[in-house]
Amino acid sequence: MKFTRYLALAGSLCAALAYAAPPSDAPHWSYHGDSGPAHWGELSSTNAACRDGKAQSPIDLHPASAMHKHGREFTIHYRPASFTAVNNGHTIQASAIDTSNVLDLRSNTYTLKQFHFHTPSEHEINGAHYPMELHLVHQDSHGSLTVLGVFIKEGKANAALARLFDHLPVEGASMPPVTIDPDALLPRERRALIYSGSLTTPPCTEQVNWIMLEQPIELSKAQIDVFRRLFPDDHRDVNPLNNREVDEE
Ligand SMILES: [Zn+2]
Repeated sequence: MKFTRYLALAGSLCAALAYAAPPSDAPHWSYHGDSGPAHWGELSSTNAACRDGKAQSPIDLHPASAMHKHGREFTIHYRPASFTAVNNGHTIQASAIDTSNVLDLRSNTYTLKQFHFHTPSEHEINGAHYPMELHLVHQDSHGSLTVLGVFIKEGKANAALARLFDHLPVEGASMPPVTIDPDALLPRERRALIYSGSLTTPPCTEQVNWIMLEQPIELSKAQIDVFRRLFPDDHRDVNPLNNREVDEE
């Protein structure tokens, strides 16, 4: 009994110490309580867009009312590459070591910088969440961002993510480089909903291009559970569409 209580106390001390030492260059934020999504805009003037922005992400997507576009607006050029994964306290983020993976959107080329995960999904489809969402973050030579989003449902074990999910790093820890084929993380059907939004984490910067693939990929229950043991909930709620257009192609 005493031992159990000691462990509980040690756990809360660790949490307190971690909280006492936020990064010096950014205000501490989280997914719950006083530093959670409802308060991001108040944590720092640099986060004003989180509260005042009119083109925020995520949003609730309605494929039936999207503007249907003919012809491809985007093409994906992915191949196996090395990634290093880190647990940054908000998610598991796998960063690209090289610039070999690119995505073209409206004749602009964006390089894949990193991918990471949220649970439950941040975007919704017709008002419903998926268990998880994958974000592949790309940047062009001018610093503009395009995020390719993939819904994740519960199903078969995902072999492409097995090497990552078999050894998810604890908070603050990173993994040695692993080879991952990002193309194997995408669904076969590439129909997508495209709109202009924002980062879904502080500082919620806008003018981010979003390409949300409609067909989900699968992770096993065990893979979803292993992520949720580290991050029980790391999603931001949906925001108003306001007068934005969502295109489907
Ligand atoms: Zn994200």
